[in-house]
Amino acid sequence: MLRYMASRPRPQVPWLDEYAEACKIVEYNLSPGKLTGYDCPICRNKGNLIGIDDAGKQVLWLCSCREKRQIIRNAHSSNLGELLQKRFSNFRIEEDWQKVMVKAARDFAAEGGKGWLAMLGQTGCGKTHLCSAAANQLLNMGRKVVYMLWTTDARQLKRLSMEEVYDRMFDRFRKADVLYIDDLFKGKITDADVQLCYDLLNFRYNDSRLTTILSSELSLEQIQAVDGAIAGRIRERCGKNFVTVSPDPNKNWRLRQN
Ligand SMILES: [Zn+2]
Repeated sequence: MLRYMASRPRPQVPWLDEYAEACKIVEYNLSPGKLTGYDCPICRNKGNLIGIDDAGKQVLWLCSCREKRQIIRNAHSSNLGELLQKRFSNFRIEEDWQKVMVKAARDFAAEGGKGWLAMLGQTGCGKTHLCSAAANQLLNMGRKVVYMLWTTDARQLKRLSMEEVYDRMFDRFRKADVLYIDDLFKGKITDADVQLCYDLLNFRYNDSRLTTILSSELSLEQIQAVDGAIAGRIRERCGKNFVTVSPDPNKNWRLRQN
């Protein structure tokens, strides 16, 4: 039977080749790939699909999940940890004055994080939540965020002695697309802290493409007292994205009794 079929000339049906080609495309598009981190129902984790362009030629389409995977990778490498859960949608506005904070952070994020954002002053009023929510929104826009908790990361940097190691570690923060410094100058402030902060912020001040998000329990006046150049750069780069919560026990969530 097979020999009989082999001896027969192949039928010259014009659409048969196209049909075979279409079958191969469908087979490829339905086959699973090996990409991880996100389960894509469109490309089945291959990152691409074969399509046909207007001229009838096969083309490789890149799947939109590549961006999603990149965002997930960026989130993992941001060091934000549990702060990745902080969103504007899960921030509870309990007082009118908090609306000002939310608006500043929201507007900043909605504009793609142009310039800097600073939330200063009173502890426990939601500064970290809102700065994190803004950072998360920028992550979702495809930007690379690096989280720096001043109390631990600055201490670690100051301990590094080998120049090469220090530079590499420092560059992770200094050159980050979006750097979020949480609790700047918390605790005892040494000359080394001031120098580190100045080197970091001055580098970022000189490159307007870099976005910086800051939270600190200190007011601008208190930062000014520590170092005028640092305070001046923060104020200038933040522009309208600048919020200070004045000390008031009623504004401290952690101190609230109800
Ligand atoms: Zn996909």
